[in-house]
Amino acid sequence: MPELPEVETTRRGLARLLAGRRITAFEVRDSRLRWPVPGELAPQLAGARVRGLARRAKYLLLETDRAGLLLHLGMSGSLRHCTPETPLRRHDHLILHLDNGYQLRLHDPRRFGCCLPLPSDGSPHPLLAGLGPEPLDPAFGGDYLFRRSRGRRGPVKAFLMDQANVVGVGNIYATEALFLAGVRPGRAAGRVTRVEYQRLAAHVKAVLAEAIQQGGTTLRDFLREDGTHGYFRQSLRVYGRAGETCHVCASVLRTRRIGQRASSYCPTCQK
Ligand code: ZN
Repeated sequence: MPELPEVETTRRGLARLLAGRRITAFEVRDSRLRWPVPGELAPQLAGARVRGLARRAKYLLLETDRAGLLLHLGMSGSLRHCTPETPLRRHDHLILHLDNGYQLRLHDPRRFGCCLPLPSDGSPHPLLAGLGPEPLDPAFGGDYLFRRSRGRRGPVKAFLMDQANVVGVGNIYATEALFLAGVRPGRAAGRVTRVEYQRLAAHVKAVLAEAIQQGGTTLRDFLREDGTHGYFRQSLRVYGRAGETCHVCASVLRTRRIGQRASSYCPTCQK
């Protein structure tokens, strides 16, 4: 599943290619995404000029001088900027035709992604309501996590992955940040100290920034906007490595299930 770093990598890669371009046509080859792609989008977008590509959590917001688009890549979605000669793939569902001859194609085999209009009055889309702060925003930090977690008995890892607390900290990044902060994933969120949350927040920012810099994690279904895979997987410290030895202390890494997700950790480095 594309995680926040992949979405941000996609945004950065595409923003410079799309800014200022005029959309000559919006082609819906198959409208059956998570929610049907509304038919009114094509006439609204034809002729619109792209103002920018923004991101909130794992949503991309394509802003134009007419309608705006809210895009989500779901489980298996990707965006590709290519020429018309590039062979169409079976699951290329949407195509934005640009005035320089290039195309932006949304490919999504599993169809959990979405493409919906942004509210015309500039108000936030209902899907964006109730989202916590962006992890890379300066306003997000250990003091915020500490305050928000008081009295919470659930595992700190689930707390960190709850979009209402902070957006975009997926399983990989929560697992890695907890290891680096020396906090076990199963600890009650309300029992983690302020100092530990300060370490944790710093590592959340660092692992996300690292992944963005490296172009996103390598996941089976994800391709960057230029069609190549990211390569973050090689630098993971604990995620997906249960049974291997910890590179810090050589203990055998363990795993437990937290909220249906496998969570690997080091029994020595993490308290
Ligand atoms: Zn260790």
